[in-house]
Amino acid sequence: MLQSRDRITSVNTPLPGPNSKALLERWSEAEAQTFGFQAPVAWQSAQGVIVHDVDGNVFIDWTSGVLVANVGHCHPRLVEAVREAAGKILNCYEYANEYRVAAAEALVQTTPEHLDRCFFLSTGSEATEQAIRLMKRYTGCFEIVGFHGAFHGRTPGAAGVGGMSMPKKGYGPPIAGAIHAPYPYCYRCAFKSTPEKCGLMCLEFLDEVVRANSCGSLAGVLAEPYLGTAGFIFPPDGWLTELERWARAHGIMFSLDEVQSSYGRTGKMWAMEWENVTPDIVCLGKGIGSGVPTSAVLMKSSVVGALGPGEMSSTAGGNPLSSAAVIAVLEVMKSERLPDNARKIGNMMKECLTWIAEQSRCVGDVRGKGLVMGLEIVADKNTKEPTPELAKEIIVRCANNGLLVGRVGIFGNVIRVGPPLVINEEEAEESLDIMEGVLLSL
Ligand code: PMP
Repeated sequence: MLQSRDRITSVNTPLPGPNSKALLERWSEAEAQTFGFQAPVAWQSAQGVIVHDVDGNVFIDWTSGVLVANVGHCHPRLVEAVREAAGKILNCYEYANEYRVAAAEALVQTTPEHLDRCFFLSTGSEATEQAIRLMKRYTGCFEIVGFHGAFHGRTPGAAGVGGMSMPKKGYGPPIAGAIHAPYPYCYRCAFKSTPEKCGLMCLEFLDEVVRANSCGSLAGVLAEPYLGTAGFIFPPDGWLTELERWARAHGIMFSLDEVQSSYGRTGKMWAMEWENVTPDIVCLGKGIGSGVPTSAVLMKSSVVGALGPGEMSSTAGGNPLSSAAVIAVLEVMKSERLPDNARKIGNMMKECLTWIAEQSRCVGDVRGKGLVMGLEIVADKNTKEPTPELAKEIIVRCANNGLLVGRVGIFGNVIRVGPPLVINEEEAEESLDIMEGVLLSL
């Protein structure tokens, strides 16, 4: 256990501490829980990258909640903006108010020029569901191409177009018209190839998939710029650009799910900026409110033109409190140059994690960009056999040493490296130190 006085983190008792234990017990007796695996820590407060638990322990956070707190936990400017709005007005539905209008203006001013309209919702699933609805409505067709391993949420359309079994299994037939193709998961290539020699075989295979499955009603394609929930799987450079080219060649719409990848996470404000793409629709969530529940879809004004009155509406979407958050988050992203910080600290962390992985016996792959990286935990680097149990062990050991990490992945064996984008060098170094100690002790 780390006790040194000049360290940021301190964990005084083996986890869970007594207060965390009591709270976790009360919780399990009141709320229906089907959560994934977490370290047994009950959070009391969080500021920036630092989390305090109810037992007085102090952690560095590599989870950002679940890639939400991009501007840092409880950024003072965000907290102040939300407080001010809450004191004035909480909901006025579709009446105009200054917060919602200013939030929409600020958002479309920040997006690539061709995306000149936004619409506010509350969750990422709603945003992806809305994107699917828009593609169908605009084209009058109903088939959507999605990808193996994609996660767009748990509502029927989002789950159906997604390519993970977790939100679908046991729920009967998914939505009609969802067509799935392989995503380039180069560490475990479906075609047993390598990025150097494959020539983006996954894309060539798209034609085959469509030939075999489409009944002639293709509306569009929905893609994550990298697969988030499936394990932070990044496609080779150029894949997204070529995917758009493919969509255009087929005369269908091209939409991106940037619920997780936007707001500076990859080291640019939008992940789409790494490629030469002009999507028709982009879904936002998580970082847009950085802890305040809100989401949005971005689109071209021509797309909105297809809709009639009342077709796109939501009780809480664009409420004044969330809108105040949208404005404050955008101000912080810009004034603190958070995408630049994500790129700078992310590069440093990736270099260090790559070195640690080389020394360790269980990290098969380190991948990612900016401040979203995955450590793929395997039993054997040659066989690449996934070990979710070891990933759980790493989560617990890290927490006991002052670092909070989470886990994702098709096999549940990928450690999430996703700290708030305000992380500084000192916090990065101390947390890397903890990770090194844990990984090299296994
Ligand atoms: N899309 C992506 C890429 C996501 O990562 C998530 C959440 N993990 C969602 C959609 C769904 O967002 P929410 O949980 O807010 O509905």
